[in-house]
Order: sequence, then structure tokens, then C-alpha cells
Amino acid sequence: MENVNLRSGYEIPVVGLGTWDLRGRTCQRAVKEALALGYTHIDTAWYYENQRSIGEALRGVDVDRSALFITSKVWMSHLRYDDALKQCEENVRDLQTEYVDLMLIHWPNDSVPVKETLRAFQETVEAGLAKSIGVSNFSVDQMEEAVAVSDVPISVNQISYSPGSEQRDVLAWCMEKDVVVTSYSPLAKRRILNDPMLAKIGSCLGRSVAQIALKWLIQKGMVVIPKSSSKNHLAENLDVMNWELGQEEMDQIDAMGE
Ligand code: NAP
Repeated sequence: MENVNLRSGYEIPVVGLGTWDLRGRTCQRAVKEALALGYTHIDTAWYYENQRSIGEALRGVDVDRSALFITSKVWMSHLRYDDALKQCEENVRDLQTEYVDLMLIHWPNDSVPVKETLRAFQETVEAGLAKSIGVSNFSVDQMEEAVAVSDVPISVNQISYSPGSEQRDVLAWCMEKDVVVTSYSPLAKRRILNDPMLAKIGSCLGRSVAQIALKWLIQKGMVVIPKSSSKNHLAENLDVMNWELGQEEMDQIDAMGE
């Protein structure tokens, strides 16, 4: 799996497993199958109510912790200093691990100064509970503020991004500042899977629509975290490394967002 450098000095694998809506046994099975297929990156959050299941799955597999990249998130109701600190600890505890690789502010909350949350995140890093920190669903203005007030590098902004549903201003700002953008809902929660143009590109290249969308995002410089509980889809979503979309195909997909 290819990695992308983070401002923190660590690296993040380009493809990860999204786990929103995966719970209990289904979640454990999907995580175990993903790891067996070669996934090394798992995306979760306090809000997903599946961190204990993921922790159980991780305990049951023979994979070195240092070979894994785990992202967790602090919910927008817990952004006050004490609440954020506690939720960071809870996330790590529920995942039954010693640290997470990336802790994110899940959504901005205007009623709490971002500096206050980031102070708790800094303490979490200093305590060894998180390697890198970042944000999610932040606009350009919110990114400007977060980067300006944080003493620890903001490494990632995780945002919704898929063919035809872009946030070009945020992507451009982040790329210029070396903040990695992770695309969530990269398949637009299945909505793009019947798109005729993506299907045509896919059939020319012998690839599925999901693979075309993920490859487009990766070639634009993003990390992707498609969610799947199907073994076939998990395998398909990981097979996006040793082939390329040409400039013409990239342009055609770009045009979906215009
Ligand atoms: P998504 O990944 O765009 O789409 C998931 C859907 O696509 C599932 O129904 C899945 O069904 C299907 N699918 C996956 N691979 C497929 C394939 N190769 N072919 C056909 N269908 C496929 O949507 P998402 O779950 O919203 O986003 C992904 C992850 O991003 C989440 O799980 C979560 O970790 C993260 N996220 C973060 C935020 C945030 O605010 N930071 C918000 C939303 C999501 P099967 O299970 O049947 O494969």
C-alpha cells in the first residue's frame, strides 16, 4: 500500500476502510476481512459506536500494531477542553490499543474556540495517545484558523469528496499548505455507481465504477476511505494501485463537478 506524508512526520496509507454504520459482528468481520486482504488503515469515530467492536477485531488478528493506521474522531458535542481530553482517552481505550495514529475533530462547532480543543489534542499527543491530529468537515476559513492557533501540526482535513460532488476550494487550500485531504463518502454512498460516464470509462479500462472513482480521487492527491462490508467490494476497493487514469479520463470526471 502506498503512503502519503503527513505534516506530523508520520505517513498515512492512501486507502483505508471506512466503518460508519458497521457495528457488532458485521463490523468485526469486515475489519478482519479487510486486514486479511491487506488493508492497514481503519477509519472510525466515537460517534460510530463501533470502536469496541473494532478493538475486539484487532485483538483477534495477528498484525503488528505499528503496521496499522487507525483514525478516530471526537464528536462536536465534546470539544470543550476537558470533554475532548476525556473523549480522546475513551477512543483509545475502546479501541483496545495504546494510541491512535490520527485523532480528528469530527465537525467544527462555532460555540467552542478551536484553540481550546486543539490544546486538548496537543496534550493527547504529548501523552502518547495520538501520533497525529487533524480536523474534519472544515471550510477554508476554519482551516486558516485551526492551523494558525495549533502548536501541533494539523495533518489532515477529512471532507466529503466524490466525482460530481467536490470541495475544490478546500482541496486547493489544503494542498498548498501540505494538509492531506481524506475523501469520505468517496462513492457518494453508492449514488455514483450507476453513472453512465464512469461506467464507460470503467468498461474501457476493465475496472468497476467504484475503482474509477477511487482512482480519480487518489490521482488528485487524496486519501480515500470507502466503507464496505462485502468481501468482494473490499478487495475491489484495495485494487487501485498499479494502474492509472489518463489525463482525458481525469478531465472527463472533473467535468462532472462543473
Ligand atoms: P461510501 O464509502 O461512499 O459508500 C459506501 C457504500 O458503497 C456502501 O453501501 C457499500 O456497500 C458500497 N460499496 C463500497 N464499495 C463498493 C464497491 N466496490 N462496489 C459497489 N458498492 C460498494 O460512503 P460512506 O460510508 O459515507 O463513507 C466512507 C467512510 O467515510 C465512512 O464509513 C466513514 O468512515 C467516513 N465518513 C466520515 C464522515 C465525517 O464526517 N468525517 C462522514 C461520512 C463518512 P457494501 O457494504 O455492500 O459494499
